[in-house]
Amino acid sequence: GYRARSAYKLQQLDDLEGLIDRGDTVLDLGAAPGGWLQVAAERVGPEGTVIGVDFQRIDGFDDEIDDRIETLRGDVTETKTLDRIRRAAGASDGESNGERGGAVDVVLSDMAPNVTGEYSLDQARSLHLARTASEVALELLETGGTFAAKVFEGPDVDDFRADLEDEFQYVRATVPNATRDESSELYLLGIGRLTAPVAAGD
Ligand code: SAM
Repeated sequence: GYRARSAYKLQQLDDLEGLIDRGDTVLDLGAAPGGWLQVAAERVGPEGTVIGVDFQRIDGFDDEIDDRIETLRGDVTETKTLDRIRRAAGASDGESNGERGGAVDVVLSDMAPNVTGEYSLDQARSLHLARTASEVALELLETGGTFAAKVFEGPDVDDFRADLEDEFQYVRATVPNATRDESSELYLLGIGRLTAPVAAGD
């Protein structure tokens, strides 16, 4: 079984949109307790790698399929976490040899704020997390790579979507059926990262 109901949302997103290929390296931001990590590990297959990041502890994965899963504990909005993600993904830090990124095929974010119940505040925090995830994605994704992030519906989501449209072949907003009815969350998908990041000064 899966560790979280949200696993079915990733299954549906991937079935509909074909986000994850066998052999891929997938970075999952806001990964605890690990439902998406389980689904991603199945879908990348034995040659793939899945890196999960959360500021909450992710209990150890210890059976065979789970050799593919590496977890980091940290806040994705902190620079030091980004350094650890780069290292886990095998990406250069951009200083040693002038190359950056290009290490990750898929960046997923199911990050959500602790909701206060004040919708405009929760929504602003959700959008900030999704934008942070997109910054990580734009740094680390290969050309052709894929991005998917949860965001709470709100008026400024269109601006975020427009920004993504400059960076990906196409962008879609989708609500998986497995999402509960009363929820106002959607997933923004960026398919086909347009250009690999290039080091400044080349
Ligand atoms: N997709 C997960 C699964 O299937 O098990 C469920 C993710 S849960 C909906 C959202 C997660 O985002 C929480 O575990 C929370 O700790 C994490 N999160 C929120 N803000 C974060 C941040 N700044 N850095 C790291 N993780 C964060």
